Amino acid sequence: MSRITDIAIIGGGASGLAAAVEAKNIMPQAKVVILEKLDRVGKKLLATGNGRCNLSNVNMSFEHYHGSVKNVMRIINSTPSAKEFFGSLGVICSADTKGRVYPKSNAASTILSALRLRAAELNVVERCGFEANFIESAADCFRILSTSGEKYPCKRIIVAAGGYAAPQYGTDGSVIRLLRSKGCHTTKICPAVAPLRVRPELLKGLKGIRAKGRVMAYSGGRLLKEEVGEIQFTDSALSGICVFNMAHLVSNYDGKLTLRLDLAADMDIDQLMGYLRIIQYQRGSHTTEELLTGLFPRNLALYLTKRSLGRSLTDEISSLRDTELRQLAQLIKNLDFNVLGSASWKEAQVTSGGISGDCVDERLQLRSEKGIFLCGEILDVDGDCGGYNLQWAWSSGIFAGRNCAESLRGELK
Ligand SMILES: Cc1cc2nc3c(=O)[nH]c(=O)nc-3n(C[C@H](O)[C@H](O)[C@H](O)COP(=O)(O)OP(=O)(O)OC[C@H]3O[C@@H](n4cnc5c(N)ncnc54)[C@H](O)[C@@H]3O)c2cc1C
Repeated sequence: MSRITDIAIIGGGASGLAAAVEAKNIMPQAKVVILEKLDRVGKKLLATGNGRCNLSNVNMSFEHYHGSVKNVMRIINSTPSAKEFFGSLGVICSADTKGRVYPKSNAASTILSALRLRAAELNVVERCGFEANFIESAADCFRILSTSGEKYPCKRIIVAAGGYAAPQYGTDGSVIRLLRSKGCHTTKICPAVAPLRVRPELLKGLKGIRAKGRVMAYSGGRLLKEEVGEIQFTDSALSGICVFNMAHLVSNYDGKLTLRLDLAADMDIDQLMGYLRIIQYQRGSHTTEELLTGLFPRNLALYLTKRSLGRSLTDEISSLRDTELRQLAQLIKNLDFNVLGSASWKEAQVTSGGISGDCVDERLQLRSEKGIFLCGEILDVDGDCGGYNLQWAWSSGIFAGRNCAESLRGELK
């Protein structure tokens, strides 16, 4: 008769694979099985970082994380850095100028292959096509029920099934619902690391434009967060990393969030006025259509000029009053958009909110049911764009894998 599984891991994504490797490192004699709903493990990993996998960041600190799990940095600091962890799997990583860590190969497949190779060496079993639907608790074991009615008995469970973001890669929040039946509660859930929707009529003519600038998130006149980077305009949303990093604010300030764009972040208002006066002098006989074309892509230049001046763009630049130039300078530095909400789950990279930090102890074990450990995005932790979410996945996976394996000490021969 085959031996009962010691540790079943629900979800073969970033945190589940890291948990499996660490659990076997700690307890080589344990039988560890990954139960993955899709036909292959790690599908989302292959899509990360535009296929390059931004697996960590050298600038790790608590300001980059949001959510109700209190010991995030303690967990990260108690596990190897991503560079060390993947170095031990034979992967060379390096950081770019912004501290974002990538595999030297620049290929996400390098990371997935390294994890799978090590898991295979350690005899971790991958069981794909198993969609966990319910967890039954018996006196001596758990039984994980699949949607097709199969029962999988095991001694311990690590839940690494992700959140709601990017359901095209297997994560639709179903396991969050499953855990509610185990006494867990969730914090407010909404898409994070995602574009932010604004009124489409305010974006007319801007679709496809990219511009460098500062993004500031305000609510009730209070500055909540600011970041400099590339802003992208779509027909219904603002996008780009600096916008993505504001998305987690939607859960607390829904309907009350304004994004202010400063499209000349490297100039103060007087320097910008100085520039506009020189242009007025140089291009005075041309039409106002040409006023900003030295500073912005043409469609953005036209948009700003139209929105600010409210007069015909065929008027000569020389006819503009100084107050009109100032009005334009003000708009360039304070282009406001009220946020309607985040983009859809399909466009989001991460889940803001999840299983509340109160539901797990300091070892990431469920308080309501001993023997079940949680890791990764299913917990209420979301990080900024730049490698912070995968770092949380690796660290929490290693941490939960280690604690889960150690909880079996004395039970295994
Ligand atoms: C397009 C994209 C790009 C990204 N790029 C980056 C990046 O460059 N850097 C970064 O730090 N973060 C990035 N992220 C975020 C990062 O990928 C996630 O935060 C991370 O993968 C979460 O790890 P996880 O193990 O918690 O969940 P996942 O990696 O989502 O894994 C969960 C697994 O559980 C499986 N599963 C779900 N339900 C069940 C079930 N009922 N039964 C069995 N299995 C189930 C899923 O199929 C999936 O394989 C990106 C995300 C996306 C969508």
